[in-house]
Amino acid sequence: MGNKISQLSVDVINKIAAGEVVERPASVIKELIENSIDAEANDIHIELVDAGKKQIVVKDNGTGINNEDIELALAHHATSKISSLEDLYTTNSLGFRGEALGAIASVSRTTITSKSKKDASGIKLHVEYGEIKNKEKKAVSNGTTVDVEELYSNTPARLKFLRKSNTELSHCITTINNYAIAYPSVSFKLLHNGRSLFFYPQTEDSMQRLSSVLGTKAEWLTAKSAYEYASGEIFILDPSDTESVRDIKIFVNGRFIRDRIVNHAVKSYFEKHLSTGETPLTILFLNIDPAFVDSNVSPTKNEVRFRETNFIHSFVQNTIEQAMRTSSTLASTSASTSTRPATLRTEFTQTFETISDKVPHKTTGGLLNLNVGGRKIIGQFKRQYIVMEDENKLILIDQHAAHERINFEKITESLKNSKDLQQLLIPELLELNIETSTKFRDFIPELNKHGFNIEEFDDKNKGKNSFLIRNIPRILLDVDVKELFRELIKDNADDILRPALTKKIALIGARLSCHASIRGKEELSLMEINQLLDNLQKCEFPYTCPHGRPVKIELTLSDIEKMFKRK
Ligand code: ADP
Ligand code: MG
Repeated sequence: MGNKISQLSVDVINKIAAGEVVERPASVIKELIENSIDAEANDIHIELVDAGKKQIVVKDNGTGINNEDIELALAHHATSKISSLEDLYTTNSLGFRGEALGAIASVSRTTITSKSKKDASGIKLHVEYGEIKNKEKKAVSNGTTVDVEELYSNTPARLKFLRKSNTELSHCITTINNYAIAYPSVSFKLLHNGRSLFFYPQTEDSMQRLSSVLGTKAEWLTAKSAYEYASGEIFILDPSDTESVRDIKIFVNGRFIRDRIVNHAVKSYFEKHLSTGETPLTILFLNIDPAFVDSNVSPTKNEVRFRETNFIHSFVQNTIEQAMRTSSTLASTSASTSTRPATLRTEFTQTFETISDKVPHKTTGGLLNLNVGGRKIIGQFKRQYIVMEDENKLILIDQHAAHERINFEKITESLKNSKDLQQLLIPELLELNIETSTKFRDFIPELNKHGFNIEEFDDKNKGKNSFLIRNIPRILLDVDVKELFRELIKDNADDILRPALTKKIALIGARLSCHASIRGKEELSLMEINQLLDNLQKCEFPYTCPHGRPVKIELTLSDIEKMFKRK
């Protein structure tokens, strides 16, 4: 190879760009959908043949391309969306690099048919591997259709990177679904090999769109928040719904992205507050002033760079917190009737005055202020629920869930302090079989750091499968520790997903000690109720039980008046 520098031809440049932008059929679909959305379409129709390897057609009803611009649309770095560098920091469009159509057309046989309102007739341009082959007038309705055939047929090296059709198809579906989630007001239809795979009609209701795309009937917890240059909306699938997938989807300014900071904010929040440690399905829409987020980090635009990462981290956690607080309100809707009053839809808008406040629960509202407004206990329902009144709200509290939350937090706190232990008068003997003892042996060093004292007991007759428990944390005194350990061993969650051992102990411990004291149904005296509420008030996270079920349900006076059709 010589060392003479020469300018690459446009064709080569396009092919290199194509490799970056167009990795697979799904990336073609992504670019075409983005163009349709930028063109204000509200109906997008996608047809694939052989997972898009043979053919991808995306048809929209957007503004269309002017007759005279049709060739420019294909040119490299030709865009109608920005014209100066400054625009890059103010634009809200999905595209701006002006390279997608050119790149796609350079590695396929592409036909663009389009009509704008301004033109009397539409125009059709046929391009083969970057070369314009035909251009003619065409009578079509307003909008654009891009038809991409035989992707990569001129670059066999790239073609080889494509996977099995099923894999490619699932990438295509994921891509379309992500846009469907971000744009509920746009209808999406997908056909594959002539068969309809889905149709999402237009809706103004993001939650409805989410449920149909993700195929879930579970309830969503939701909240909106806004602060300075950022606003956010979050949807969390009912954390107690164990059947649902665990996933985090992040959208920044209408585009699906991957981001480590936001991911961490979401995951660490749930690790801390839900003892299962698992992240429920979380969908996060962030709208950030383009001056504070760089979207031009990668050619595929699936990453961003935030200017203030700490701010984003706490903004996300605060928004989740808001949503978790509404969980009780939400649960009440499913418990009542199928026609939900509109206010129960948890339209929750909050402006953060204390975004950097590390103790988020010290804000106003919710259970924490029961005393302030003066709580009035109405009584108990079915010996399971505390019924009370607080200012303009009727509140139901699940006493069992409340108790579990209180115990969970107390145990978690106490396990941090390994000195808070109790020596057992008579050590307990835990006998296990070979399999379970192997597993248990792994836990011992960690357990002994948290107030336990466990040692292996060499029973000459039975071999080394017995353990002597000499000390236990004082907080677990009323808990059957042998039962606790058996449950701990039984729990064979995948190691990566497994939360800290102490969390698991707190979770099991909370449940066991709950059974010992308030067994679901129990008559409580006014004093006991007050004590329970006081303890709940002290909790760091009094909104759900450790498994994510709501602790309380609130109905405002206006909710009740709506139900009685007084309003
Ligand atoms: P970018 O989206 O970054 O501007 P593209 O190569 O994807 O670059 O598109 C080039 C231009 O073609 C766009 O700026 C837009 O003006 C026009 N265009 C592409 N697709 C459509 C569409 N579906 N409807 C209207 N105009 C479109
Ligand atoms: Mg584009």
